[in-house]
Amino acid sequence: MFADPARVRVAVRLRPRNAEELVADADFPDGVELQPELKRLKLRKNNWDSETYQFDEVFPDTASQKRVYEVVAKPVVESVLDGYNGTVMAYGQTGTGKTYTLGKLGEEDCADRGIMVRALEDIMADTNPENDTVCVSYLQLYMESIQDLLAPERDNIPIAEDPKTGDVSLPGATLIQLKNYKSFIGLLQTGEANRVAANTKLNTESSRSHAVLLVSVLRCFHSFPFSFRFSSNENGSRNSRAPVIRRSKLLIVDLAGSERVDKSGSEGITLEEAKFINLSLTALGKCINALAENSPHVPTRDSKLTRLLRDSFGGSARTSLITTIGPSPRHRGETASTILFGQRAMKVENMLKLKEE
Ligand code: ADP
Repeated sequence: MFADPARVRVAVRLRPRNAEELVADADFPDGVELQPELKRLKLRKNNWDSETYQFDEVFPDTASQKRVYEVVAKPVVESVLDGYNGTVMAYGQTGTGKTYTLGKLGEEDCADRGIMVRALEDIMADTNPENDTVCVSYLQLYMESIQDLLAPERDNIPIAEDPKTGDVSLPGATLIQLKNYKSFIGLLQTGEANRVAANTKLNTESSRSHAVLLVSVLRCFHSFPFSFRFSSNENGSRNSRAPVIRRSKLLIVDLAGSERVDKSGSEGITLEEAKFINLSLTALGKCINALAENSPHVPTRDSKLTRLLRDSFGGSARTSLITTIGPSPRHRGETASTILFGQRAMKVENMLKLKEE
């Protein structure tokens, strides 16, 4: 059963100037000018000329983590709790705040906490351990190999696809049932410690892998919540005694840096890594283009990243993309390419479909 189509929601977030930029760019304005109230961003081409772009949301460098979560991720989390698949992705040049936005840890009530922690807090608060099961896998996609961040010896995990339903799963990955929100923080810390991160000239904490947090939610409802209005039968009547089981999943994807290989200044294995990053991000871009053009063929088979996203991006899923940019006018090229990626994604329409068992 289909509800109204929903476009991929696309936001852009500007990182504050860092210590190096405060000195090096002191005499220059930022490479972009934000108009958050109009949800617009102006990319400065030179001192006189700029190009204006419209987004679903434009976050200035003063935007709080809480606000970013509430606008970008909370609607997706709520939809996952209602039985839809959902994805939140961060795309941008290394050092622009993808990991800060998604993966930043922190104690409860800490204002800095990122989207992963806040999403799990909401999911655990809304589910009931007697009826519902929440399980987590944490993976990284490194050089076209899926590694288990909760059990690093598990490498090259295959992707399974149900030929009938098209559902994507990772039968070889560790799947841990969450007891409470605190146990999730421990898992995230274990995963982070295992994540392959290598330094580049652009950022000493840069990451060459895509990190994927997969949250599976299995819910058993004994009566229909209002949001399940689409599940009534033809006469609109429902059997209120039969429990309804909903299975859905949330993917939170911290994509590897989108910068061009020639700027990373890397050699040897690093160049290899950069090629794989380009391959998967190009494949993601092609899928976004195909979805935006309503093409009958969406080329999800070109990379592991797009295969993993197959049932969570486009189709029945609700998706938010946060593109992150830095303020420095020296990175105008990367900023422009991130903005253009976001603009293409704004055209993608998803069909909401209830997954019922
Ligand atoms: P990426 O994941 O895109 O490589 P990071 O998330 O590691 O970038 O961010 C690079 C640096 O900038 C980190 O030190 C991070 O704490 C800081 N940073 C990023 N975004 C923000 C922000 N909105 N506010 C404050 N600091 C930020």
